[in-house]
Amino acid sequence: MSSYDYDLFVIGGGSGGVRAARVAASLGKRVAIAEEYRYGGTCVIRGCVPKKLFVYASQFHEHFEDAEGFGWTVGESSFDWKKLVAAKDAEIARLEGLYKKGLSGANADILETRAELVDAHTVRLMKTGQTVTAKTIIIATGGRPNPHAALPGHEFCISSNEAFHLEELPKSIVIAGGGYIAVEFANIFHGLGVETTLIYRGAEILSRFDEDLRRGLHEAMVAKGIRILCHDTLQKVSKGEDGLTLETMNNGTLQAGVVLLALGRDPNTEGLGLEAAGVAVDERGAIIVDDYSRTNIENIYALGDVTNRVQLTPVAIHEAMCFIETEYKNNPTRPDYDLIPTAVFSLPEIGTVGLSEEEAGKRYDELEVYRAQFRPLKATLSGRAERMIMKLIVDAASRKVVGAHILGHDAGEMAQLLGVTLKAGCTKDDFDQTMALHPTAAEELVTMYAPSYRVRDGQRV
Ligand code: NDP
Repeated sequence: MSSYDYDLFVIGGGSGGVRAARVAASLGKRVAIAEEYRYGGTCVIRGCVPKKLFVYASQFHEHFEDAEGFGWTVGESSFDWKKLVAAKDAEIARLEGLYKKGLSGANADILETRAELVDAHTVRLMKTGQTVTAKTIIIATGGRPNPHAALPGHEFCISSNEAFHLEELPKSIVIAGGGYIAVEFANIFHGLGVETTLIYRGAEILSRFDEDLRRGLHEAMVAKGIRILCHDTLQKVSKGEDGLTLETMNNGTLQAGVVLLALGRDPNTEGLGLEAAGVAVDERGAIIVDDYSRTNIENIYALGDVTNRVQLTPVAIHEAMCFIETEYKNNPTRPDYDLIPTAVFSLPEIGTVGLSEEEAGKRYDELEVYRAQFRPLKATLSGRAERMIMKLIVDAASRKVVGAHILGHDAGEMAQLLGVTLKAGCTKDDFDQTMALHPTAAEELVTMYAPSYRVRDGQRV
């Protein structure tokens, strides 16, 4: 029996922290976990899950319109924002309960308090001031929206946190940023009837995605009525009687009911007592870890967004499971960051895994690019002017599929399965030998027989 109060103390009750605590406790370790806000963390409480519920809500308008082409007459429809928020809150509360139930079922001590490090083995529970000790400590405190403090008037803006609890829907919104959150919320608010403008500093939204999909989504969003201002930034936000006035660098003055800043997320490390414990952070405040998520202090690990590696829930959970293998199963395991499937829940949706054409062009001498752009079957009767894009990036030398990119309905669902095929190292021949499933959109992935073009030394030929 060790002299510490606990074998493991986890600070932060989000995806990574809860997983590590629950599994360690189920292995018979004495575990405590502390959370200052709500169990479930960003993903469950004010991220992925409520966002996806909002995405569903925002798409009904298009479904009602599409129904007509299939013979339906849809009566007058209206949308109640407060009802959506209340329904979402009830579901989130249910999920939070399940997270806690999982922890208590495994016999972990659930602490509802902020916790700060006192030294490498001691944690202070801020609610009571009590200190407890642990042999091993995990920091899994996640991240928070970048407040963009340099922007005059940033205090009048909201982040994604507040977007989940707006008292009422504004008539108009300006969203700053061109990443996941900006693009997803632009689609959500537009779908709910809000006049939506996106303002992004770069040449094209979603800088880390395949160029084709970025352009395709941009065009589709503009066609729906979302205004996108690229090569521009907010210079100042001021509040008047009629709402907010925004000065931009290149597009003059804009008016908006709400301004949402979606300019990335910062690691949550302030005031955690990291200096007291001697834990090193980088210039952005992210905890520095080795390949096994261990900090510079032998018994302290850090998982998830607080380490600013890949800010995705499944990655934090995977890091937690690798920690369990490493620390408790005598099986040192490094998180594997290769081929992480990802989706942007816009309308149309992006689903992607592996390298973009641009990245692959830098890595391989020659690529075969298979590309299909087509009108999905449903759009023939709905009359909606939408196009799906599907793209496979193939290393010409090995025939391995190194990237798969989809824009269109259910792209995220397809990307998950494509993730399995790429992870298994499937070649284009494996795709060719797979029977098509007809009639689906996904059958295009196995029926693109000839390359649309080749890329040699990074140049299309
Ligand atoms: P992202 O990193 O995706 O995007 C941040 C955006 O803000 C980029 O367009 C960036 O521009 C821009 N930006 C950053 N700083 C400034 C600045 N000072 N002035 C102007 N523009 C700026 O972050 P998000 O906030 O959208 O999302 C945070 C993370 O959450 C993501 O990285 C993602 O991992 C995760 N997430 C995942 C989702 C999913 O899986 N579907 C959904 C939502 C979030 P530039 O591109 O030029 O750098």
